Amino acid sequence: MTKFEALGLQKSLLDAITDMGFETPSEVQEKAIPILLEGETDLVALAQTGTGKTAAFGFPLIQKIDSNSRTTQGLILSPTRELCLQITKEMQAYSKYERNINVVAIYGGASITDQARQIKKGAQIIVATPGRMKDMISRRLVDISNIDYCILDEADEMLNMGFMEDIKDILSGTPDEKSTWLFSATMPREVATIAKKFMHSPQEITVGAKNSGASTVQHEYYVVGGRDRYPALKRLADTNPDIFSVIFCRTKRDTQKVAENLIEDGYNAGALHGDLSQNQRDLVMNSFRKRQIQMLVATDVAARGIDVDDITHVINYQLPDEIETYTHRSGRTGRAGKSGISMVLITRSEQRKIRAIETKINQKFELKKVPSGMEICGIQLHHLANKIKDTETNSDVDGYLPEINEILEGIDREELIKKLISAEFTRFSNYYNKSKDLNSSDSGRDRERSDDRRGGEIPTSGAVRYFVNVGERDGYDWMSLKDFIRDTVGLGQEDVFKVDVKESFSFFNTESEVTQQILEKFTEFKVDGRFVNVEVSKNPGGGGGGNRRSGGSGFGGGFKGKRSSSGGRRDDDRGGRGRKEGSSESKGRRRDRSESSSPNSGKRRTTKRKGDFF
Ligand code: ADP
Ligand code: MG
Repeated sequence: MTKFEALGLQKSLLDAITDMGFETPSEVQEKAIPILLEGETDLVALAQTGTGKTAAFGFPLIQKIDSNSRTTQGLILSPTRELCLQITKEMQAYSKYERNINVVAIYGGASITDQARQIKKGAQIIVATPGRMKDMISRRLVDISNIDYCILDEADEMLNMGFMEDIKDILSGTPDEKSTWLFSATMPREVATIAKKFMHSPQEITVGAKNSGASTVQHEYYVVGGRDRYPALKRLADTNPDIFSVIFCRTKRDTQKVAENLIEDGYNAGALHGDLSQNQRDLVMNSFRKRQIQMLVATDVAARGIDVDDITHVINYQLPDEIETYTHRSGRTGRAGKSGISMVLITRSEQRKIRAIETKINQKFELKKVPSGMEICGIQLHHLANKIKDTETNSDVDGYLPEINEILEGIDREELIKKLISAEFTRFSNYYNKSKDLNSSDSGRDRERSDDRRGGEIPTSGAVRYFVNVGERDGYDWMSLKDFIRDTVGLGQEDVFKVDVKESFSFFNTESEVTQQILEKFTEFKVDGRFVNVEVSKNPGGGGGGNRRSGGSGFGGGFKGKRSSSGGRRDDDRGGRGRKEGSSESKGRRRDRSESSSPNSGKRRTTKRKGDFF
């Protein structure tokens, strides 16, 4: 008897399970299935993401459905369209040997008429998102007044997404004597409320510690300067050449920006967020599944539907507001018993948040160092050697071999290897040569201060003077620059003052209350594909003017650079206000920051910043 058989599952299901290659039940399956098969009961099951909850309710549900009746008997509510489709697919796979069981998905963004037609044909099981479900109920396109089972899957996430009212409405139209099974990774107050209101003395099972992250996941954090998040992200990617990862940002905007930057820098990256059309999202997800995308940059909501196993790394580009969201994020890796790493990029001031997460998930974080440029070169070298070793030779090259042998004649094996490796390696070492330490530390701060114009202390009161790397030649005068800063940060009429526009850079003042806001806004902020960099000037509260040399080349010259691949771009086609970030104009631009380009995007152009302006 297999372990699944011992749980009481029928032959047709066991056959489907064999086909799917499941050998042993997961813990939540082992606990939930017998309870659900045995009698009619309500159940609250808490288990982390990736522990096999779908089958834990799916197997018993299928076994309990009366396939001779065509009425809708089971309703599964799930937070997103993606999850809805994923569950439907799984349920269809589980029920492949059942006769006449129809599982139909109902979700927004697709034809409601088509879905209604499918329901009409007889759907014993409906998998639905709450919004569309409510819509269909109100149009009388579905009838759930006779269901026997209602499953709330990813209940915490549904409530997070604001479906509380919809769920209440939907449940109020279902029979009182049905069984309700609630599955959730975490148990926030809202979920407890739902359980209390709509369930009758539910049995409870908990797998692992409550609210804890999957134990196959290793948690790491890296302390970097706020502006070094992006270069640090690239180093983490370069340290893991085979990375297959989800990178979480807090906003759709950041998500799009980080993905665009990565693509521009030659990484296989893609963005997934709610501002994309369903079609675009499907395309991105397909590429990700096929691993054409190695780094999927996503918002929390969009990522809920990611049903991809084997994700090696979850990278928290920024920490989420809610600790529970962190649990969901890290649960994207370490699925189905595999191990995974959840990395967090934080600034020094966020370190206490790590402690809070540790307490909540009952797991320790390891403080790691962002690898140095030379370390990465070493790793890449190692990777390259392995890649060469594992490369299958291609007989198509045979015809060229005599010629190639002639060219390479007289070079011995050792030297040949050295040359071969160097060809690739130089790309990385050129890029990382003299790269700075990205780990945030006191010495790091000192180094920044030694720069002539930037890195001034941030005063806590009074006026603060800033340096910004745009000027007259970008089309600004003092008035338009003032407007630009105000509009961008959302400041009032009088908030930006003493604006002094030079040819390729400018200065301005604000009160210190808004300094944080300004610096955050201009962290990796791009206009027309170039970074607009704002830094606290070393001349605190200065009135502008005075004996500065004109900036000329140095700093501003950095914007002239072009990607070798883009070609043909006019050098003077730069700057100016009004163009939107992310426009096609932004493609193919280089950034005026250290580590702005990437070893992946060809040759690196370094921009040295020199000058004594104060
Ligand atoms: P959860 O809903 O808890 O996040 P899923 O139900 O989506 O997890 O399952 C995660 C992955 O594990 C899926 O790819 C699923 O097919 C697989 N899986 C589920 N149960 C088993 C099992 N008993 N053995 C092997 N793989 C399983
Ligand atoms: Mg699930």
